[in-house]
Amino acid sequence: MKPLLSSRMVLGVFIVLIAATPLVMSPFYITLLNYIGLAALVALGLVLLTGIGNLTSFGQAAFVGVGAYSTAFVTTSSSFAWLGNSPWAGFIIGLLITSAVALILGAITLKLSGHFLPLGTIAWGISLYYLFGTAEALGGHTGMTGIPPILVLGWVLDQGYEIYYLIWAFLLAAIINTKNLLDSREGRAIRALKGGRIMAEAMGVNTLYSRMAIFLFAALHASTSGWLYAHMQRFVNPTPFNIHNGIEYLFMAVIGGASSVWGAIVGSSLITILKQWLQDLLPKLFGQNGNFEVILFGLIMIIVLQRAQNGLWPLLAKLLPVQHELKTINPHAEPLAQRTLPTHGEVILEAKNVTRKFGGLIANNNMNLTVHAGEILALIGPNGAGKSTLFNQLSGVDTPSSGEVLFLGKPIGGLQSRTVAAMGMSRTFQHVKLLPTMTVLENVAIGAHQRGHKGVFSAAWRLERAEEERLLAEAARQIERVGLKELMHVEAGSLALGQQRILEIARALCSDPCLLLLDEPAAGLRHLEKQALADLLRRLKAQGMAILLVEHDMDFVMGLVDYVVVMEFGQKIAEGLPEAVQQNQAVLEAYLGGVE
Ligand code: ADP
Ligand code: MG
Repeated sequence: MKPLLSSRMVLGVFIVLIAATPLVMSPFYITLLNYIGLAALVALGLVLLTGIGNLTSFGQAAFVGVGAYSTAFVTTSSSFAWLGNSPWAGFIIGLLITSAVALILGAITLKLSGHFLPLGTIAWGISLYYLFGTAEALGGHTGMTGIPPILVLGWVLDQGYEIYYLIWAFLLAAIINTKNLLDSREGRAIRALKGGRIMAEAMGVNTLYSRMAIFLFAALHASTSGWLYAHMQRFVNPTPFNIHNGIEYLFMAVIGGASSVWGAIVGSSLITILKQWLQDLLPKLFGQNGNFEVILFGLIMIIVLQRAQNGLWPLLAKLLPVQHELKTINPHAEPLAQRTLPTHGEVILEAKNVTRKFGGLIANNNMNLTVHAGEILALIGPNGAGKSTLFNQLSGVDTPSSGEVLFLGKPIGGLQSRTVAAMGMSRTFQHVKLLPTMTVLENVAIGAHQRGHKGVFSAAWRLERAEEERLLAEAARQIERVGLKELMHVEAGSLALGQQRILEIARALCSDPCLLLLDEPAAGLRHLEKQALADLLRRLKAQGMAILLVEHDMDFVMGLVDYVVVMEFGQKIAEGLPEAVQQNQAVLEAYLGGVE
C-alpha cells in the first residue's frame, strides 16, 4: 500500500518549505516568490468566489488597488500624522474602505445573473482604475512615493526576504481560513451556490448573504495583497490595478484549479514564473520587443479550458497520495433544540379555494385540502393534472392567483422558501437536487442550516466547533433514521436514485419540520426501493410527522396513506379514504384515460 499523507501533513510540508526557502534561494527568486505570494492571495479569493461560489469577477485588481492606495495615503499624508502614519493603520483603514466599497458594489452587482455579473465586475474594475489615475490626492498617473516599510515588533521589513515571511504568513493564514470556512455550516451554504441555490434556499439558506460573504472575503484578501505590495515596492501607481491584471488573476485561479485552495498557489506560481521567463526569452527568440507572453498566455488558457476544465491542481493531486479524513461524529454532542410537534390530528396545512392561472390555462381551479398533524395525505392524478403547481402553492414557492394557503394558521403566500422552511415545512424535489461531490453527511447537514447561527468569521477561525459538532451529530442522526448510515461518508453523486431520494428526506428532516412535502418520491424507483420508501414514511408518521406526497402511482399510495385527494385538469375530482377512492368511477376513468 502507498503511504498516505493527511491533508494536515501537506500543510506541514508547505510550512517547512516556506520557512526554509530564504535560506537556500537567491534574492532574485525571493522576489519572484514574493510576487507569487501576493498573486496567490488574490487568486485564493477567486477560488472561493468563482471556483466554488460560481461568481465570476474580472475586477479583483481594483480591490488590490484600494488596499495599496489606502495604505499609501495613510502612511504618507500629513492628515494621518495623528496615527503616526503607521502601515498597520493603513492596513486597517484599507480593509475598512475595501469593505465599504465591496458592500456597495456587491449590493449592486450580486443580484445580476448570467453574463451581467462578469460585465458588472469589468465595469467597476475599469472605473476604480481610472479613479486611481485621476485623483490628484493619489498622485495621478505618476502615483505615490515615499511609502515606509512595515514594522513588526520593532523589526523593519525592508529587505526582500523579510517581507517574504510576512507575505507568506498572510497567505498561510488565508489558506487555513479558507479551508476552515469551506468545512463549516457557512461553507456548505457557499458550496451549494454552484448549482444548488434553489435547494439551499428551500433548506433555509440565505444565498444572497452567502454570495455577499464570499465577495467580501475575496475583496479583503485582494486588499491585503495590495497593502503588502505597496510596502514591498514602497511606491504605487495605477498600472498594476488595471483590468488586464484583473483578468490575469482570474487566469491564475482557473488554470491552477478554481475549486481548490491549492489551485490558487499552483496557478499563481505557474503564471508568475512563466511570465517572468517568457518576458525574457520570447523577445530574444523573435528578435524584437513585444508582449509575446500575453499572446502565449491566451493560447495556454484556451488549451487548458479545452483539456482540463478543472485546472491543473486536480491532475497534480492525483499524483499525491493524500488521504481525505472522514469526519468524526461525536455521539455525545448536545442535541439541537427541537420544535414541539403539533398534537396529532390538529390542522396544520390548509388550502382554501386555491386557483392558479398561467395566462389562459387554469392549472389549479378552486382547490381545497387539509393536512392534519401526524397523517399522510396523497395528492394524486395523471400527468399534467396540476399536482406540482399545487405543491408550489402549498410550499410558498409560488403564490396563488386567488385563494390562500395557511400553514399553522398563518398565510404563507409571498413568503421566501427559507422562511417557510423555518416555520416547519420542509420538502424534497421531484428532480433530486443534491450536491454530488459532497458527502451524504454534508448534504444532509445543509438541512440543519437554520438550526445553527455561527457566521463566516467564526468558521474561518474555527470558533464554531461546538455548534458544528451538534449540527453534524444531528445530520448523522437523521441519516441513521432513514437507514443510510453505511453511506454517510460516501459522495452523494455515487448513490443510486432511490438512495438519493432517501437522502433528500433525511436532509428535509434535518430542518426539524412538522410537515414533509414530497413531490413524486417514488418516481424512478425499483420495486424494493419503493417498499423501503413506504416503510420509512410509515415510521416517520408513527413518530408524529405529517406528510403530504404528490404521486401519480396509485399503487404506491394505497395501503400507505390516510387520505387521498385526486386531481384532473386542475380540479379535484374525488377525495376520501384510499380504498374508496380506488373504486371511484371518475378516478378510474381519469387513470384509464391517462398514461397508465
Ligand atoms: P402535474 O405535476 O400534475 O404533472 P403540473 O402542475 O406540472 O402537473 O402542470 C399542470 C399544468 O400547468 C400543465 O398543463 C402545465 O403545462 C401547466 N404549467 C405548469 N407550470 C406552468 C408555468 N410555469 N407556466 C405555464 N404553464 C404551466
Ligand atoms: Mg409534477
